[in-house]
Amino acid sequence: MRDIFNFLNKTDSAEMILLASNENPLGMPESARRAAAAALEGAGNYPDSNGTALKNALAARLDVSPEWLTLGSGSSEILELAAQVSLKPGENVVYSQYGFIVYAQATAHAHARATVVPSQDFGHDLDAMRAAIADDTKLVFVANPNNPTGTFIDAAPLLAFLQSVPAHVTVLLDEAYTEYLSPKQRYDSIEWVRRLPNLIVARTFSKAFGLAGMRIGYGVSQPSLTSRMNAQRPRFNVTTPAQAAAVAALGDTEFLARTYELNTAGRDQLAAGFDDLGLAYVPSSGNFLMVQVGDAEAVHARLLAAGIEVSLLGPYGLPQWLRVSIGLPEQNKAVLAALR
Ligand code: PMP
Repeated sequence: MRDIFNFLNKTDSAEMILLASNENPLGMPESARRAAAAALEGAGNYPDSNGTALKNALAARLDVSPEWLTLGSGSSEILELAAQVSLKPGENVVYSQYGFIVYAQATAHAHARATVVPSQDFGHDLDAMRAAIADDTKLVFVANPNNPTGTFIDAAPLLAFLQSVPAHVTVLLDEAYTEYLSPKQRYDSIEWVRRLPNLIVARTFSKAFGLAGMRIGYGVSQPSLTSRMNAQRPRFNVTTPAQAAAVAALGDTEFLARTYELNTAGRDQLAAGFDDLGLAYVPSSGNFLMVQVGDAEAVHARLLAAGIEVSLLGPYGLPQWLRVSIGLPEQNKAVLAALR
């Protein structure tokens, strides 16, 4: 299979400003760094396959029992597991145009068939997605907010959609960026999981929790679906330091609050800068903004030459657009200066 991620290859160097992968510009929280370092002492042994400490912490936080949780090597693995437990070869998956690229990959790994529903204003067209669900559809992916477009679906229409999906169809609600939502946007999808046996909510420690390199995420679903997810899961898929780092990050409310404030201010800073430059962008509910620059490959190359890496969106069919992850104030300033 073609390497669909080769457009993300990192040209890492100390001086580069890396705004290509929606990571946390604050890096790893110090609390998690210390916990991971301490956990290295035990890394000669296999990790706790059940992720007991982290599941207990998440269970308390989300008010579910640990039997509702699946841990993954990033939430990417939760998306893959959802495809593996829901799909037989040849069956159908529904997701939106401009959906996260792993949906296509997970579909291919399951030898299934995708129906990609045209987007509406860069976001999900939920009515069209509902209409696209056929008898052989077994899985629907919905991202809220969506990557790479940053679009957001309000709670009421999203819940109405979830309730309208037939019971034989699993829905993977991908909430990788949920911690960045404003208080007004927030909704309780765990309560929806309690009501809907076919719903999996996927979340990650890669973004707001600052642990992208540790590879850890989780899924929340009712016990029968969760036990199928865990049966499919590679036994030692989440490392000991990653589990320890996640427990620490989950409890680090100060870091999460700082992340949220930084992101909100940075998003405003970039949006105002794009306005000044006369560049169109899609209002974003995540930690990134999609901006229309014309010949994106050329602009991307110029930014790289200036020491700034952002993301090309050619693989998404958006050759005029770049996705800029929101950085520290001085990094955002550097992007705007380079674009000017
Ligand atoms: N879902 C969405 C929408 C994403 O943007 C990402 C990361 N880019 C992921 C899931 C997966 O992230 P991870 O595997 O690091 O948890």
